[in-house]
Amino acid sequence: MMNNCIFCKIAHKEISTDLYYESDDVIAFADIKPIAPVHILIVPKMHIASMNDVDCTYSDVIAEMFVTAVQLAKSQNIAESGYKLLIRTGSDGGQEVPHIHLHLIGGAPLAEDIQPR
Ligand code: 5GP
Ligand code: ZN
Repeated sequence: MMNNCIFCKIAHKEISTDLYYESDDVIAFADIKPIAPVHILIVPKMHIASMNDVDCTYSDVIAEMFVTAVQLAKSQNIAESGYKLLIRTGSDGGQEVPHIHLHLIGGAPLAEDIQPR
């Protein structure tokens, strides 16, 4: 666990949050500032700062994050209508929280969001 990391604190129950999913390695909870009717963050319990820190030793937890996203899309009834999965990385990628998280966003038609500023 990394001190002062908000998602480590949520993962280790130092901050209470309603969870959509929990296993030994992954949790999922609602984004505090949702940008769509469904906006869930899928997060490894282990502190991994960004995608730049991922290698093959993390393949199981990264796979579980994506499988969890699909299961939640189905349980939230947005699988058929569609959704976006998003991992921001670094400054140009707009990453605000330096602990990897997969955004599951859906429930309404979504605007393009990959234009250069
Ligand atoms: P990023 O820009 O790093 O991809 O996304 C960070 C996301 O985390 C943002 O959508 C933001 O609303 C969300 N967030 C930041 N702090 C908290 C928090 O304390 N609790 C929850 N549930 N979401 C948070
Ligand atoms: Zn962390």
